[in-house]
Amino acid sequence: MKQLANFIDLEKLSPQGYQWQSEFHLSQFPRLAELLTQTATTETNFTCEINKISGIYWLEFSVKAPLETQCQRCLQPMEFLLDEQGKLALLEDKAQASLLQEEDWLLLDDVVEMVKHERRLPILTMIEDELLLGLPLVPKHDYHDENCVPVEILADDEEEPIEEKNNPFAILAELKEK
Ligand SMILES: [Zn+2]
Repeated sequence: MKQLANFIDLEKLSPQGYQWQSEFHLSQFPRLAELLTQTATTETNFTCEINKISGIYWLEFSVKAPLETQCQRCLQPMEFLLDEQGKLALLEDKAQASLLQEEDWLLLDDVVEMVKHERRLPILTMIEDELLLGLPLVPKHDYHDENCVPVEILADDEEEPIEEKNNPFAILAELKEK
């Protein structure tokens, strides 16, 4: 698998732009991976494009991947489909915003990293930020899922007082007395 570039050097972007497509792998996004338990390997798709059109850079991406996280009600694994598309205009200055319709935009100065007079666009970090925003805040199984038993009930069971006769510490105390 060819890795998505961490950075795109804007000054070296070819007139044809940058296009990339691959299967989606959670290993590409460490911060996302921390929140999720696994990625299914089938039917995943991940594309990224950067183009310069009439002086404006455009970052576009789409991600489709069945993923697994932990249900916050029953703490069991929960599958969900990450299905995100994004299109972002990257502007040299705010005046360019008047050229846009309704598209989301960022100022290049706010996102690029300057390295030896090169402007590097950290596309991997930018896409990961967008994907993190798209995650369910508190993932939960469907409300009607019978297998989704709130974990509070289980916790209550565990907190029942241990009967004196079964308590190993009580038995130890008895032995010491003898
Ligand atoms: Zn659940």
